[in-house]
Amino acid sequence: MRFKALETAHNRATISVTPPSDKVADYYGSYTFSDDVMKSLLTPEAYYKVSNAIKSGSRIDREIADEVAAAMKSWATSKGATHYTHWFQPLTGGTAEKHDAFFDVTAQGKAIEKFKGSALVQQEPDASSFPSGGLRATFEARGYTGWDPSSPAFLMDNGAGGKTLCIPSVFISYTGEALDYKTPILRALHVLDKAATAVMYYFDRNVEKVTATLGAEQEYFLVDKALYYARPDLMMSGRTVFGHSPAKGQQLEDHYFGSIPPRVNAFMVDFEYEAWKLGIPVRTRHNEVAPGQFECAPTFEELNLAIDHNALLMDLMHKVAEKHNFKVLFHEKPFAGINGSGKHNNWSMMTDTGVNLLAPSSKPKETLRFLTFMMNTVKAVHDHADLLRASIASAGNEYRLGANEAPPAIVSVFLGDELIRLLETLENRGEIQLEKGDNVFYKLGITRTPPLMRDNTDRNRTSPFAFTGNKFEYRAVGGSANSASPMIILNTIVANQLQEFRKELEVRLEAGEKKELAIVDILKNYYRHSKRILFQGNGYSEDWIQEAAERGLTNIASTPVALEKYIEPSAIAVLEKMGVLTEREVHARYEIELENYIKKVQIESRVIGDLALNHVVSTTVKYQFQLAQTAKALVELDLTEEAQPLKELIKEVSQRVLTIKQSVDAMTEARKKANNTEDLVERAVLYGSEVKDYFEKIRYEVDKLELLIDDEDWPLVKYREMLFVK
Ligand code: ADP
Ligand code: MG
Repeated sequence: MRFKALETAHNRATISVTPPSDKVADYYGSYTFSDDVMKSLLTPEAYYKVSNAIKSGSRIDREIADEVAAAMKSWATSKGATHYTHWFQPLTGGTAEKHDAFFDVTAQGKAIEKFKGSALVQQEPDASSFPSGGLRATFEARGYTGWDPSSPAFLMDNGAGGKTLCIPSVFISYTGEALDYKTPILRALHVLDKAATAVMYYFDRNVEKVTATLGAEQEYFLVDKALYYARPDLMMSGRTVFGHSPAKGQQLEDHYFGSIPPRVNAFMVDFEYEAWKLGIPVRTRHNEVAPGQFECAPTFEELNLAIDHNALLMDLMHKVAEKHNFKVLFHEKPFAGINGSGKHNNWSMMTDTGVNLLAPSSKPKETLRFLTFMMNTVKAVHDHADLLRASIASAGNEYRLGANEAPPAIVSVFLGDELIRLLETLENRGEIQLEKGDNVFYKLGITRTPPLMRDNTDRNRTSPFAFTGNKFEYRAVGGSANSASPMIILNTIVANQLQEFRKELEVRLEAGEKKELAIVDILKNYYRHSKRILFQGNGYSEDWIQEAAERGLTNIASTPVALEKYIEPSAIAVLEKMGVLTEREVHARYEIELENYIKKVQIESRVIGDLALNHVVSTTVKYQFQLAQTAKALVELDLTEEAQPLKELIKEVSQRVLTIKQSVDAMTEARKKANNTEDLVERAVLYGSEVKDYFEKIRYEVDKLELLIDDEDWPLVKYREMLFVK
C-alpha cells in the first residue's frame, strides 16, 4: 500500500488551470446574490426593506420575502442552479446543508414552483442528528433554519454540472434557542455595536454604527491524496498518531516563504478563482514554517461575513484539493515535531464613518479614542481570560497550545514597548491641575500615538493575543475551529466592558469632571488593574510559564478543564447579561463541546490501537522472525559472537512490542472505564487523562521501531514522504 501510494504520488502531473476571465472584476462575486444583483432585480421598495434589514440586523418580513425569494430563484436558475439549501454552521463543526429541488413534481407529472418566501424565511431540516446538548427534547426534535440577510446567498458548484443556491442561515430550536454558531455571533455583534456606538458618543457624535471586523488567516497542510489514504490515522482523526520526525524537518526553515511547488501552486490558483467567484477576498499565498504547510489570508470583512467566508473557504479548499489530488488538513497538529496550524483571528472595530477604532493616530483627540477602545479590550480580556481560553479549547488544539512552537495555554496580551511606555507615562503622571488656557492633551502627555507602533517589526509572534498595529490578533485559535466560537466571547466581553466604561464615565461627568481627564483616569485604573496580563517577552519560554504562575494567570492545558470555564458563574453572568447566550444555551454548548472532545479522543485511541497492533506489531513480528533466523544461522556456523548484536536487537524489538501490546490493552481498559462513567464531565476528564496518557507512550515505542525496521517493510507512509513529496 505504502509503495503503491508513493508511486502514484511521485507520478502525478500538475493539473493546469485557466482563469475564468482575464479580468478578475469580470467574475469576482459572480456567484453571490449581491447587493448589486438585488438592486437590479427587486422593486425599489423591497430593496430598501432588505437593505434596512441587513443594516439593522433584523429579519425581513413575509411580504417581501416572496419577492426576494422569486428574485433569488430566477437569478440562481439563470446561473444553472437546480437546488437550494439553507446553509448553516452546527456545533459539530463544519457546515451543514440539505438540498431541495426548486421544483416539485405533481402526480400529473407537472413541475410546480416550490421555492417561495416561506422557504427562505424558515425551513425545517431533519435536525435530529445534530447535537443540541439537551435543548431539544425527543418529543420536539425539530430545529429550524432561517435566512440571515446580512450574509449574501451564493452558488455552490457541485462538480457534476449542477449548482446549488446556498442560503446562509441560523439554526435554532423549536423554542428559539441557538443550536449553531451564527445565532449567538449575531447577538454578540449587535450588543457590541450598541455599546461601542454609545462610547463613540464622547468622541464623535456622527457615528451611528460600529461593526466588528475580522480577517482570519488560515493555516493548513497539503498531503497527496494517495498518501493520505495510505494513512488510516489521517483519514480517521485528521492527524498522524505515529511517525518519526524526518532528518530534514523544520530546522532549516527553508520552506518558509520559499518557492511554492508547481502542483501546490496550481491548487492555490484554482482555489483563488473559485473563492473570488464567491466574493471571498483571498489575497496572500505563501508557505508556512513547516514543510507541507501553507497559509491563506483574506482581506478583513464585517465579522459575521468573514466567519461565513472562512467556513465556506474551508469547504471550498476540500473540493478544489480533490481535483488536484491533494487532501487539505486543517487539524491543529497533524504532525508531531513540526508546527501546527492556527487560524489567527485579526479583530478590530470600524465605525460607519470609516474609522478603525484600533488604529493609532497623530491627532491627540483620536489617540485618546484609540486608547479607550484598546484599553477596554485589554481589560475585557483580563477579566474574562478563562472564558476566552475556553472558547478555543478542542481536542485538536490541545496538541498545539503549549507545544514548543505554539502560543501557550496562558492568555496574555502583547501591546509592544512603545504602547507600554505610553501607558506607563499616563500612569505615573500625578494629579493634573488644569489652568485656564491649558491644552488638556498636552497636560496629559498625549500628543500622538508613538510612530513605532505602526511598524510591523514591533511584533511578537509568541503572544496568544497581540496588538499588531491597528488590530488585535487572537493567535491561539485552532486551524479547524469555527472562528465564531472565540468571536462570540471576544465581542461579548468587549461590549460588556464598554458598557461598564460608559457607566463609570457618566458618573464622573455628572460629578463635574472634565471629560478627557476622567477618561484618562479610568483608563489608568484599567491599566493598573489589567497589568498582570500584559506580557511583552517570549511566550514560548519556560521562564514565562513560571512568571505567569507567579502573576496568578491561569495556564489550562486540558480541554475538559478549559471548557468548564464556560459554566463559571462569571461567564454565564456576562453572556446572559449581554443577551448572547442564556444559561441553558451555555450549558448545552458546554455539553456538546465535551461530547465532541470525548468522541475525538475515542476515535484517536481506537486508531492508535488498530495501527499499533495490526500494522506495526504484525510487521515487527515478521522482522523479529527474520532476525531470529539469521541469528540461528550464524550460531550454526559457529559465529556465536557475531550473532550477539542480532540477539540484542531481537531483545530490544521484543521489549518494545511487549510495551506496545501492554499499553494498548491498558488503554482499551481505560476506555472501557471511561465509557462506563455516567457523568459526562468525568468521562471527558478520564479520556483526557487516563486514556490519552497512553498515546505518547505507544507512539514512543512505535517511532523507535520505525527506525529499526527495514524501510522496505514499514507499512505506514513516513513523514519525509508525506511532507516532501510534491
Ligand atoms: P500580516 O503582515 O500579519 O499579514 P496584514 O496587515 O496583512 O498583516 O494583516 C493580516 C490579517 O489581518 C489579514 O487577514 C488582514 O485582512 C487582517 N486585518 C487587517 N486590518 C484589519 C482590521 N482592521 N480588522 C480586522 N482584520 C484586519
Ligand atoms: Mg498572523
